[in-house]
Amino acid sequence: MTQEKLVGISGARGVGAGTVYVYKQEAIVVNKTTIEASEVDSEVAALERAVETTVTQLQAIKERARETMGDAEAAIFEAHTLIVQDPSLSEGIKTLITSAHVSAAAATEQQINTFADMFLAMDDPYMRERGADIKDIGDRLLRNLLGMSPRGLAHLTGEVILVADDLTPSDTASLDKNVVQGLVTSSGGPTSHAAIMARTLEIPAVMGVGPIDGLVNGTKAVVRGTEGEVLLAPSEAEFEAYAAEAKAYREHLQELKQSAELPSETKDGKKVLLFGNVGKAQDASHACHLGAEGIGLFRTEFLYMKNDALPTEDEQFEVYKKVAERLHGNPVIIRTMDIGGDKELKCLQLPKELNPFLGYRAIRISLDRTDIFKTQLRAILRASAFGGVQIMYPMIASIEEVKAANAVLEQAKEELRAEGIAFNEDIEVGIMVEIPSVAVSADLFAPHVDFFSIGTNDLCQYTLAVDRMNEKIGNLYQPLHPSVLRLIKNTIEASHNVKHITGMCGEMAGDPLATMILIGLGLDEFSMSASSIPVIKEIVRHVTVAECEEVANNALTMSTAKEISDYARSVLEAKGINL
Ligand code: PEP
Ligand code: MG
Repeated sequence: MTQEKLVGISGARGVGAGTVYVYKQEAIVVNKTTIEASEVDSEVAALERAVETTVTQLQAIKERARETMGDAEAAIFEAHTLIVQDPSLSEGIKTLITSAHVSAAAATEQQINTFADMFLAMDDPYMRERGADIKDIGDRLLRNLLGMSPRGLAHLTGEVILVADDLTPSDTASLDKNVVQGLVTSSGGPTSHAAIMARTLEIPAVMGVGPIDGLVNGTKAVVRGTEGEVLLAPSEAEFEAYAAEAKAYREHLQELKQSAELPSETKDGKKVLLFGNVGKAQDASHACHLGAEGIGLFRTEFLYMKNDALPTEDEQFEVYKKVAERLHGNPVIIRTMDIGGDKELKCLQLPKELNPFLGYRAIRISLDRTDIFKTQLRAILRASAFGGVQIMYPMIASIEEVKAANAVLEQAKEELRAEGIAFNEDIEVGIMVEIPSVAVSADLFAPHVDFFSIGTNDLCQYTLAVDRMNEKIGNLYQPLHPSVLRLIKNTIEASHNVKHITGMCGEMAGDPLATMILIGLGLDEFSMSASSIPVIKEIVRHVTVAECEEVANNALTMSTAKEISDYARSVLEAKGINL
């Protein structure tokens, strides 16, 4: 095979080498629903084989989960095994096959749905979770019965370059970073959730390479995450050289992590707050290990995306409380649900829209569905009794929205007071600055909030009118565009004028090329994917505020993103900082 190159956009830095695995989500289709009497025995035998295969797969996943994630995660797969082996499940399926002459696949589908629906209808959140487990197990059992490859990524072994159209958060949950050496997606860009997850897991990633139909499993490949390119079928010598580079890169990351204990301050002693962005409670520990001194963005939408039903107040409270406790009083900024846009939701059937990013999303849904919003605010308030919890509203475009959201917050507080439930009366409430209307008029918004956090992922897409998910125009998505820098400058100045701390939780906060400029503009708090913290801290500790101010001032005189990024790179190189 001749060598080929796929070109996309950098999703996560680093080099990874391995063999291609193309991940396709084939939908399950049960064509044959009834059988002849003569087929009963073979259908029952097929069911028994599928149960056996399922148990073997689950045991293998359990063992790997134990090694990579620990006993608690492994226990989930033990529970799955017990459910598959539960005679009431297989006996029910067999009865449908033998007495109603339903095919093994159709009988399995029917029985699983009945079981799962029973659990999903229960009030107890723990029992509802079991319903989702049964659906998962049924999915695996059916795929085995129909001879389809298993869904999910937990079955992967060896050293794999994972290739997919896109990955959902639940796909990435089953991904083992010791196995997956590189990630390649046909669609999406650097701010897609697959890219964010890749950075969290430190897996080199290239996004938006276009059609992947021609890719063959088992082909050797190299992901050059920093450059945004993928080499297919390189020569043996080239592959070995990249594999060695990949190993050296992982060792370099390990070294950087040793910096977790070092203070995050510039050479002249200015404290720069480095916080972590998280989506799950477990991510908070990872962020702390890498030196995060707070959580600058807790993306709560994953709680809503996980299940078919909306998360209850208690379920949310437990998660928020866990993170608050883990941070021992340090700030935990919980963003209220930011759904819609690219984030779909099974538990809330949102209509398809022509312009979802400009549509019914985030705070707009919250202010429309105040029932859902108040439940979340109550859960956050309750968690505020256990740590440094703060509230942040996403996608704010107008001051009326801030006031309306605060009115619902006030109701939630009144209810808790009346019920005698503890919460922090002085909880800080801030907004994301991710719509240009807020950045332009930041001085008008500043007196109405306790803090700003600049969401450059959306701010950049709205300022430049560039869809952050569209790989065709990925080169136009430029966080270092002069207009974006001016909006950031304006926001920080307005915030400092009223003596507020200003944060940033968009991906730009973790971009080494932006660090000196942002320090120079006065940004106080940088919140990023945990894996970026050591690299950014390395820069912070090598510079002075005066140097950064000079870099920021020079950058503000430049007229293109390219000029600015070339300049920022040359400054870092001159200081001997390797990216
Ligand atoms: C942002 O827009 O910068 C942001 C942090 O939010 P999200 O990526 O979740 O839209
Ligand atoms: Mg956003």
